[in-house]
Amino acid sequence: MNQTAMEIRLILGDQLNAYHSWFQRVDDQVLYVMAELPQEATYVRHHVQKVLAFCAAMRQFAEALTQAGHRVHYVTLDDAAAHADLPALLQALCADTGAQRLSYQYPDEYRLDQQLAQLQETLEIPVSAIDSEHFLTPRDAWQSYPNHRMEFFYRALRKEYGVLLDPQGQPEGGRWNYDQDNRQKLPKDAVWPEPLCFAHDVRDLQAMLARHGIDTLGTVDAQRLVWPLTRRESRALLDFFLHHCLPDFGRYQDALTPRDWSLFHSRLSFSLNTKMLHPLEVIRAAEAHWRAHQETITLSQVEGFIRQILGWREFVRALYWAHMPDYGSRNFFGHQRPLPDYFWTGKTDMACMAHSIGQSLEFAYAHHIQRLMVIGNFALLAGLDPDAVDDWYLGIYIDAIEWVELPNTRGMSQYADGGLIASKPYVSSGQYIQKMGDYCRDCRYQVKQKTGPESCPFNSLYWHFLHRHRNVLSDNARLKLVYANWDRQPAKQREYILDTAQHHLARINQL
Ligand SMILES: Cc1cc2nc3c(=O)[nH]c(=O)nc-3n(C[C@H](O)[C@H](O)[C@H](O)COP(=O)(O)OP(=O)(O)OC[C@H]3O[C@@H](n4cnc5c(N)ncnc54)[C@H](O)[C@@H]3O)c2cc1C
Ligand code: SF4
Repeated sequence: MNQTAMEIRLILGDQLNAYHSWFQRVDDQVLYVMAELPQEATYVRHHVQKVLAFCAAMRQFAEALTQAGHRVHYVTLDDAAAHADLPALLQALCADTGAQRLSYQYPDEYRLDQQLAQLQETLEIPVSAIDSEHFLTPRDAWQSYPNHRMEFFYRALRKEYGVLLDPQGQPEGGRWNYDQDNRQKLPKDAVWPEPLCFAHDVRDLQAMLARHGIDTLGTVDAQRLVWPLTRRESRALLDFFLHHCLPDFGRYQDALTPRDWSLFHSRLSFSLNTKMLHPLEVIRAAEAHWRAHQETITLSQVEGFIRQILGWREFVRALYWAHMPDYGSRNFFGHQRPLPDYFWTGKTDMACMAHSIGQSLEFAYAHHIQRLMVIGNFALLAGLDPDAVDDWYLGIYIDAIEWVELPNTRGMSQYADGGLIASKPYVSSGQYIQKMGDYCRDCRYQVKQKTGPESCPFNSLYWHFLHRHRNVLSDNARLKLVYANWDRQPAKQREYILDTAQHHLARINQL
């Protein structure tokens, strides 16, 4: 490399924030470095679309910075492969350019944070870090916001940022949360918008991954990668969401169906997590759109959407930083069962699992209720090892970055943190899945049956889970009625149910 620079500034693959203060002034002494790192492509087995989308979006961002007059050194996977890891690459670049300092934006993952924090030990020049200017709360928000339930955290942020408040500073409509008005099942004749998909030709990147033997999962049409790769495309997806999906977002937020893969969901998580979009920009756009279209969009739709970003997204990040690194190994129930093969193929007779996993493999995407109440629910009921469950979720989804994946998977979905996020485990029998959608209609298993080989596995596994963890769950106030209900059932019936669950577990790979 024959460039010199006073300062090297590292931009990570999920730091594609064109509005960061770094980029507001062109400085010829600064060289921005972006790299397609083997360590990032392999720390878990990722979905092929995820690796392709990250690389392609990084390349577009590098190009945009160059167009704007900044000096950028882009290291492709071909070039990066010569270096053992990120510190080795940076060391070599600093030596080659004669840089006098190195800067980076604080990473969002603990793993990278540790790696970069140790840089100073190997480099002889000063190393400094700066905020990524993306989140609405600081990293240590868990300490600074006193109430550790999402709802109160969310309310505090609504007030702090003046979101969905009336002129008196009270919540619009008189309530903070409209969840009860949502959660509807899709009617038979429901119509939803055809998702806005992009069509990027990334075959050259696909060939590069093959050259380097990067082991991925899932499938891709590399001629037509559907994900937004630039800020402009991310804005287009946001506009599409506001006009076509927001009017029904909250209402059908929890709906389940094999007839589509994203319904009224925004699919903005990739754009948000790579920082192509700022959360406040999305929140303000949604609020403004609702204010201008109140005749067609009810408050409960927009409140439901904003709560996910202002509430859940910030909350899980705060929890992540407060509890890492030990959070990543918590296993409250001591579950150890390996993942059944259908997590990698989608080939199971359970229609809800086949569709939710199948579309995850096809699109690197499933919406929240598929992740939580179908796949996660099954994993928890069946006692799957949270380490394996975590790796699966971290690999498969386009938006999976550990700071947001881990609390959602290990915490919200698997209750492996013993209740830090969720006040009770998110488990249900097949009845909930039937209530929220039409998966059960064409399933080989009978959702109305609790016992016998043809019965829906979720039914008996639900009681088996509660029964086997009674010692740690029966004191939970929210489960008292559930246990009372179990105890009321005749002893013979309880025995049949537990036997059925054992039968299903014994042939879990064949379900
Ligand atoms: C087991 C499990 C694993 C998950 N893993 C991830 C992950 O790796 N990355 C990720 O971004 N989200 C994750 N989520 C949260 C949520 O499922 C996704 O954010 C959402 O499905 C993304 O699709 P969307 O953009 O269409 O979301 P929408 O339904 O349109 O929601 C809008 C936005 O709200 C935010 N959001 C919604 N729910 C959550 C939540 N629980 N936590 C944080 N942000 C939220 C996202 O930024 C999302 O883009 C996970 C949830 C579960 C139950
Ligand atoms: S019957 Fe059970 S396994 Fe089949 S789709 Fe319904 S909930 Fe899923």
